[in-house]
Amino acid sequence: MATYRELLAQVKGEIDEIGAAEARERQGEALFVDVREREEWEEGTVPGALFVPRGRLESRIEGLIPDRSTEIVLYCSVGSRSAFAAKALEELGYQHVSSLTGGFTDWKRNGFEIETPRSLTPDQRRRYSRHLLIPEVGDAGQEKLLASRVLLIGAGGLGSPSSLYLAAAGVGTLGIVDADVVDDSNLQRQIVHSTDRLGEPKVLSAKRTIEALNPDVEVKAYEERLTSENIERILGEGWDVIVDGADNFPTRYLVNDASVWHGIPVVHGSIYRFEGQVTVFNPPHGPCYRCLFPTPPPPELAPSCAEGGVLGVLPGIVGSLQANEALKLLLGIGETLQGRLLLLDALVTSVDEVAVKRDPSCPVCGEHPTITEYVDYVEFCAGVRG
Ligand SMILES: [Zn+2]
Repeated sequence: MATYRELLAQVKGEIDEIGAAEARERQGEALFVDVREREEWEEGTVPGALFVPRGRLESRIEGLIPDRSTEIVLYCSVGSRSAFAAKALEELGYQHVSSLTGGFTDWKRNGFEIETPRSLTPDQRRRYSRHLLIPEVGDAGQEKLLASRVLLIGAGGLGSPSSLYLAAAGVGTLGIVDADVVDDSNLQRQIVHSTDRLGEPKVLSAKRTIEALNPDVEVKAYEERLTSENIERILGEGWDVIVDGADNFPTRYLVNDASVWHGIPVVHGSIYRFEGQVTVFNPPHGPCYRCLFPTPPPPELAPSCAEGGVLGVLPGIVGSLQANEALKLLLGIGETLQGRLLLLDALVTSVDEVAVKRDPSCPVCGEHPTITEYVDYVEFCAGVRG
């Protein structure tokens, strides 16, 4: 029977080993995989390295690196665990695997660059465990979410589900703009509020619900109606994504113009009776709201929920879709609804999609914009002929 030393020597003879200097030259081309334990990884890593502890390497690697022709540099602390790891990956069919001889210890000794990962607390690891299991989110994605800032326009039908799911997902900062107080006619659909909050400002009611759901989330409450006068101050606080749940056209045009000028993507949602619409505006990569709707509909053809009614669950569906788009934008994964308008009919349960193109002559995001500062949005929306 072979001793550990003999086995290690044998494995080292069968795999490809490279030194720290050569590994450094391969940075950028090769994918570095750190096979140490979490405590070791937290103290410092090769920048950009993927963290896959040795004990989980075989079970996780195919999900993380499906392409077996990927050039991989494995490392541990001194080059033994990574030697066995290299052997295992070769047996799994990976063709270009090397083990860093001397490991991270030698890498550091050479004075090469290291980075110290921010890491989740044990509580956070449990709370977000179902995210950590998804390779597209994982530790890095969860940390990104915790550092993210999303501004929600409205704490009503759409803002309720989207804020709850974004909070549950661990989006670290949620701004909520709404001037209304909780009314009993809201509770048929606005699930972030409750009967004991009647008369309370919606932003404060939402803040209480969200912070009870997830103490990792900081809620910035703006108890005011979004206007040309306050939008610069609010957007100036810095947001990664805006979730627009406004129930009126002046606010939608205002949010659009401001977001184009600030370069913040907007996840748009709207609802009416059984019909919902969702899309993502992110110019210059896609159209803006004005590319889609150059002029607002005449007021008599554009009733709000208050006037037209809405099936209570519909904002739940549309707002959840908005949260999904926001999470993808924050994580930089998947495909968003940019350039696609999703049309939902809850009465027959059907989903249609129409392509929306950026309009080069759009007055705000086009090549020669004619609207470059805030206008009177109420007048703009009221003044259109019928
Ligand atoms: Zn546009």
